[in-house]
This record gives sequence, structure tokens and C-alpha cells, in this order.
Amino acid sequence: MSKEETTLTPKLIKKLWLAFIILVLLMGASYIFITGYFANKYSQETTQRINADIAEHVIAEKFKDASPFLEDGSVNKPLFGDLMHDMMAVNQSIEVYLLGKTGEILYSVVLDPEDRDAAKSVALAPIESFIKNNGKNYILGDDPRNPREQKIFSAAQYNVDGHEGYIYIILAGKKFQEVSNNLLGQYFAKLGIGATVLTMLFSAIIGLLAIWFLTKNLRLITQTVRKFHDGDLNARIVNPENSDIAIFAKSFNDMADSIVGNMDKMQSVDLLRRELVANVSHDLRTPLAILKGYVETLQMKRDSLSETEKQEYLQITHDNVDKLSNLINQLFEYSKLEAEQVVPVKEPFSITELSHDLIAKFKVIAERKQITLQLDNPQENCLVFADVSLVERALQNLIENAIKYTEPNGKVTLSLHKKGKNVEIDITDTGTGIPVKEQPFIFDRYKQVDKSTKKQGYGLGLAIVKKIMDLHDTTITVLSKPREGSSFIFNLPAYQV
Ligand code: ADP
Repeated sequence: MSKEETTLTPKLIKKLWLAFIILVLLMGASYIFITGYFANKYSQETTQRINADIAEHVIAEKFKDASPFLEDGSVNKPLFGDLMHDMMAVNQSIEVYLLGKTGEILYSVVLDPEDRDAAKSVALAPIESFIKNNGKNYILGDDPRNPREQKIFSAAQYNVDGHEGYIYIILAGKKFQEVSNNLLGQYFAKLGIGATVLTMLFSAIIGLLAIWFLTKNLRLITQTVRKFHDGDLNARIVNPENSDIAIFAKSFNDMADSIVGNMDKMQSVDLLRRELVANVSHDLRTPLAILKGYVETLQMKRDSLSETEKQEYLQITHDNVDKLSNLINQLFEYSKLEAEQVVPVKEPFSITELSHDLIAKFKVIAERKQITLQLDNPQENCLVFADVSLVERALQNLIENAIKYTEPNGKVTLSLHKKGKNVEIDITDTGTGIPVKEQPFIFDRYKQVDKSTKKQGYGLGLAIVKKIMDLHDTTITVLSKPREGSSFIFNLPAYQV
């Protein structure tokens, strides 16, 4: 067995494993990402909800005693600065901004006046939406210190001494961000390691089981194929329809059946051929030996033999030459049929007419033996669809046999009957009949196994008839009783006009 074949299963398992590990890693990464995203959102939403009215509180508490604006309209920075410092000392994560009416930043202690990147104003839309919903919805607003980022915030509107604007408080300010990032990093590290280790562990167990179950049928099939390959021709996949790869399992079983079937067929054809050669050579040898004997006698005793004896010996030689040539012809015909070189050319023809011709042809031989040869039902014209010359050959062999095995004063009848879509052809004689135990073998004389029942010297007449029947997809039956006679019956498809 090649290396390719033996490593088939491990290769497949490796691929399955790789796919599985990639899947586990992808699942782990998505799990961590999703958890992180929602954990962060959850924490921000909670913080925003808790601190929603902090800006409102600033206005209510701080702006009632002192205005954040000076008389000249500028921001009262000392007052507002103190206020912001107080608040941010208590809650370091927040950053307070005083906004004007259009969202422009009027003042904040956290903003460095030198910082060019810092925003000069923030978008009003999120602030208005926040105020409208009383801070009940999770909403993000601009972060003035990082203009590209969006942060949770609290906001409230003020109207003091003719000045309108907003108190805008970033709830997750720089400080919050630092702490949060730090914690989140640690949290992710722990979660990542924990989740990955656990998922890998469970996945490994489930994966192993899954791969084991998935490849169970495949392993079974591979084992069976290997067994078959190693010579166990009976190896088949049990219950192929229950296999996960039923089509594969069934195909293997079918393939194995047809291989074994073909092998049996080839073996039996081979056996038949060997028996045929052995028997035929025996059959050829007998007449040849007789011929040789008589020819030698004629040569040696040419002068001492009487004229009658010479004639008799010559007749014997003639008969044996006939026998030999018959046998050789039959053998040639049979081997052509056996090798499937004969392709029947089917056409409609009148079997009645053919029968009339054959009866006329054999009439002389029959009369010489004082045998009545007749056609039953000669009026009705029966048409069949078959190969005319092959059918003629089969009928000839059957009539020849019938005359040969019938005693003088006997009768040979050929009858034709329409039976449904077929025409039944029957050759009946009143001859010697065939012993019951020989009947199963008469069509394949040379295939006979039991040598004790086998007579030598037979021709191939019925074996040829049987091959012709096979070519017409029909069968021939024999009904025979010793000393009473025999009937050979077969059907051919009738030709419907
Ligand atoms: P053969 O040349 O010996 O007749 P066949 O194949 O034609 O060879 O026939 C095989 C054998 O079948 C014959 O030897 C004979 O024993 C038997 N057989 C065939 N036809 C008849 C028949 N009409 N009556 C009796 N025996 C027959």
C-alpha cells in the first residue's frame, strides 16, 4: 500500500484540527471583543446615569449666590476656577466647562490656554438632546481636550444676569480614562487568558470527540477497503445506508460485488475453455485415429483386400472425415459465439416459410431413415423479429438431432403457435429421449462436471443453440422421457404488422 493511502486519515484529521483551532481562536477573540465592548458601554452608561444631574446641581447650588460673570461681561475666573477645583478635587474623573449660548468654551481650568489642539467649542446637538431627555439616554458629546473623541457628559442650561449658556461636564475625563484604560487592560488580560484557556480546554475535548465521531465511518471504510485490497474479497461495509457517507459506502460495496462477480465469471469462462479444449481434442483424436488406422491398412494391404472391403474401408474413412469437418465447423461457430463476435441482425421474417424450407431440406434424410417429418399448423403465417440465419442454424441443429435420435418409423414434428407477443416453436420427436440426470447438461456438454455421466464424442449442436437463444434474450426448454421422445421448446418475439 502506498504511503499516500496510509496517511490519508491522519492528514484529514490534521486539517480538521487546524480548522477547529482557527475556529476556537476566532471565537475566543470575538468573545473578548464583545465582552469588552459591552462592559465598557455598561460602565459608561452607569456613570452617565448616576451623574446625570451633576451639571444641574452646579447651577442650582453655585450660581445662586454669585454670578460666574463680572460686570463687564467677562467670566469671573477666580470664582469659577475655585468652583471647578472644588468639584474636581472631590471627583477627579470629571472636567467642568462653562459654555456660551452657541457651545463656545468660555472657560475651564482643565484647558491649557497654550494647547492649540484643544477645541474652542463643542457640538450643541448632543447637549440639547441630553437636556431634553433629562439625562435618561446614553449619549456621547465632544471632548474639548481630545476633539476626535466622544465622551459621556452631563449638561445643564443657565441664564444668569442676561448671560445664557451651558455647564458642560465631561464625566469620563482624562483621569478616568487613564484609570479605566489601566483596569480594562488588566481585565482583558485576565479575561483573555481565562477565557482562552477554558475555551481551548472544552474545545479540545469536544473537538476530539467530534473528530473521532466524524471520522469513525471513514476509518471503517478505509479498513474495509484495505482488507479488500489485501485479498479478503468478502470484505464489505456493514449497513452502508447508515454510514455518514452512505453514497461512498454503497458505491464501494457495489464495486466490490461487481469485481468479485467479474472474477467469478472470468474463472468460469476460463474453466469452460480449458474443458472445451480438453474434450474437443479428445473428440478430434478419435476419428483421426480411426482414419489413420484405415488409411494405413489400405496402404499396407492394398493387394490382399477385396474390392468390397476396400469400398467399406473407404466409406469409413469418408464418414470420419465428415465427422471431423463437422466438428471443426461447429467448434469454429461455437468459439465465435462464445467470444461474442456474433452480433445478431434482427429483422422481421416469416418463421413459417423458414420452417417449410427446412422441412423440405431434411425430408430426404428423414425418409431415408423412414421417419415422418412434418410441420404442424402450416397455414398460419407467423412472423418473428429475429436474426434469420441464426434462427435457421438453431432449427437445423434441433431437427438434425431429432432425426438422429429417433428410430425408424418414428415422427418428428415442428410446430409454430402464436402465444401473446411471442411465437412458440416446438420440435418434438418420438425418439430415444434423454435420461433425466443428463438433461441439465445437454446444452453445455463441455461444461459438465461429473465425468461419470459424461459420454464422449458429442458435438456442440445444443451448446450453439443455447448461445443463439442468449443472443435473442430467450431460453430453450427440454421436455423428454426416455424411450418416449423429446420436445425442445423456445419463444421468439412475434412481429406485429
Ligand atoms: P451431438 O452432436 O452429440 O448431438 P448436441 O449438442 O446436439 O451434440 O446434443 C447433445 C446431446 O443431447 C446428444 O448427444 C444427445 O445425448 C442429447 N440429445 C440432443 N437432442 C436429442 C434428441 N432429440 N433426442 C434425444 N437426445 C438428444
